[in-house]
Amino acid sequence: MLLEDIFSELRDRVSMLDTARFYGLNVNRSGMACCPFHEDETPSLKIYDDHYYCFGCHATGDCTDFAARLFGIPQLEAAKRISYDFGLNLFENGIAVPIQVKANPEAEYRRWLTQTSSIITRYLNKLYEWRNRYQPSNQTEALHPLFAESLQRTNYIEYLDEILRYGSDQEKRKLFEQNRMDIQKITDRVHRIAADEHIVRHRAI
Ligand SMILES: [Zn+2]
Repeated sequence: MLLEDIFSELRDRVSMLDTARFYGLNVNRSGMACCPFHEDETPSLKIYDDHYYCFGCHATGDCTDFAARLFGIPQLEAAKRISYDFGLNLFENGIAVPIQVKANPEAEYRRWLTQTSSIITRYLNKLYEWRNRYQPSNQTEALHPLFAESLQRTNYIEYLDEILRYGSDQEKRKLFEQNRMDIQKITDRVHRIAADEHIVRHRAI
């Protein structure tokens, strides 16, 4: 497949909204989010069907461009990343592309914070959902693995969520320094859940 075809395939199959949310943007009901590309206090990034535009810094592009800019990686790497994260298999050996973060510690921290907050909230919602959905109907029934995961993880994830939502900047930076590897594992887990659900949806069609 030609590179240009891959970009257009991605535009067709992954909405800009899904991309923005997946990579940690908090998109409000009017399709606006705080722009990750400049210091943005109020949402000035508008999410359209197939592209984004920032009224503050005028950054614009499609989903591939968005991921490339967010992670500081080339467009091809960004396309691979999206293909992997959304389970699209557009590349022969769809191996996860390691994200090369630019050598700017403050930007790296901000990017991490945006992504992590969204990932933790998503995971927490899943844990709550599983707690209800897979609740054993009687005492002899073996625990569903997702119910067990919910039992084991909810307290810790609630604790992280609390800090990411209401904690001081100092507390958040402490998480960044001390819990980063652990949180990376959670991020991988959430991406796997998304990929699994994507596959299930595809089979159902
Ligand atoms: Zn901007």
